Amino acid sequence: MKPPAFSTNLLLCHLSPDARACLLKHATAVQLPLGTVLCEEESFPRYGYFPLSGLVSVVTVMPNGETAEVSFVGREGVVGSLHLLGSASLSTRWMMQLPGSGLRVPFTELQQSFDSCAEIRGRILQFVQEQSAVVAQIAGCNRLHEAEQRLIRWLLMAQDRTGYETLDFTQEYLSQMIATQRTTVTIIAGDLQRRGLIRYSRGKIQLLDRPGLEAATCVCSAVTKRLLRELYEDKSVVKAVVSAGNTRPDMHRSWAS
Ligand SMILES: [Zn+2]
Repeated sequence: MKPPAFSTNLLLCHLSPDARACLLKHATAVQLPLGTVLCEEESFPRYGYFPLSGLVSVVTVMPNGETAEVSFVGREGVVGSLHLLGSASLSTRWMMQLPGSGLRVPFTELQQSFDSCAEIRGRILQFVQEQSAVVAQIAGCNRLHEAEQRLIRWLLMAQDRTGYETLDFTQEYLSQMIATQRTTVTIIAGDLQRRGLIRYSRGKIQLLDRPGLEAATCVCSAVTKRLLRELYEDKSVVKAVVSAGNTRPDMHRSWAS
């Protein structure tokens, strides 16, 4: 059977052909519609997912059902990586925040590959380290920086992890993501639009001026972008992946720029 295409997942791209074949032997290509839960809180995943497009939201779930997004995963990583490290029960849920597609691998097979192959283990651990650093940066950002900076940082991070120029997010969702009132998001989005930095219409946010947005936000955007870049330093591979992944030509920009 022909192995499924992997070309837009950076982690898979940075494995040797042998290691990649070992993982893809058990992989199935799947569509991941908006809202799909890839792994529930307090439960062990049945599958690991290598996203090919879209954006996975990492959400902390409180005992009373309240939730807060703490990070996200795009084409740079794999969902299920934390569960590979041990048997702790996690209060974290992984779900699709922007629809896309991915490669699904039975978790037992993923665990076996992680345990037996040093190269796969090394790549996944590198990704886990990047995720941990991003979560720490976001925690500091939420505590120290203004709502406008947090909103811009969040949009830039989402773009860095998807390559999309336009992001489909409602103001309600954005207000939850940056832990502020919806009316505050409305005011900020209106102001950013007047300054020519974004275009916002019916839940679609187009980032018009990336340098301008970077200048208007806090340092956290640059830090998380650097962490992402350092994860895969070989830019020639990144560029090849970006061009191979242009399935939505109106929504892509250079990953590594
Ligand atoms: Zn910040």
